[in-house]
Amino acid sequence: MAVNEKRPTLFFDRDGTLNRDTGYIKSPEELVLFPGVVEAIKQCNDLGMPVMVVTNQSGLARGFFTTEDLESIHQHLKDQLCNGGAWIDDIFVCPHHPDDGCECRKPNPGMIEQAAARYSIDLEKSYVVGDKYIDVELAARSGLKGVLVKTGPSSEEAHCMIQANQLSVVFIADGLKDAVDWILQDIQS
Ligand SMILES: [Mg+2]
Ligand SMILES: [Zn+2]
Repeated sequence: MAVNEKRPTLFFDRDGTLNRDTGYIKSPEELVLFPGVVEAIKQCNDLGMPVMVVTNQSGLARGFFTTEDLESIHQHLKDQLCNGGAWIDDIFVCPHHPDDGCECRKPNPGMIEQAAARYSIDLEKSYVVGDKYIDVELAARSGLKGVLVKTGPSSEEAHCMIQANQLSVVFIADGLKDAVDWILQDIQS
């Protein structure tokens, strides 16, 4: 594949999608991956699909944890993936408070734009996978395909909002593994 060729890319939400969402995660020990997540990400890695994380972390602006804490949380995430032979290509974080009116807090498209500025991405053939309505809304706003996973605390609410707003979500998955299996089929069609 040519270096500058635009590639389909997978954007995964973090909390409630990769790991249990227990509220604000402030330390590495609190980040507990769901079963099958390492294997699902490895599957994408093996196929040469870039995997990136897009995560709202307003706990930074709220002073619940520091950027150093967040770095060690993400190091812990990378270590767990690495132990299973998997990796994440990049992590994009919105550190702002909802009242800040920033461009990067999901569902605003800022983090996808940052990624598209840094990497060669085929946005139309890329996906956002997340457990909240804002994740699939981000996909819709940025021209990507949205996949909802049912592993988060507000997945049920998200499901209702999708129906109420008639947002076109391409798939509703039981979890990340199910989402990835579906995406890898879909991407070939
Ligand atoms: Mg989430
Ligand atoms: Zn932001």
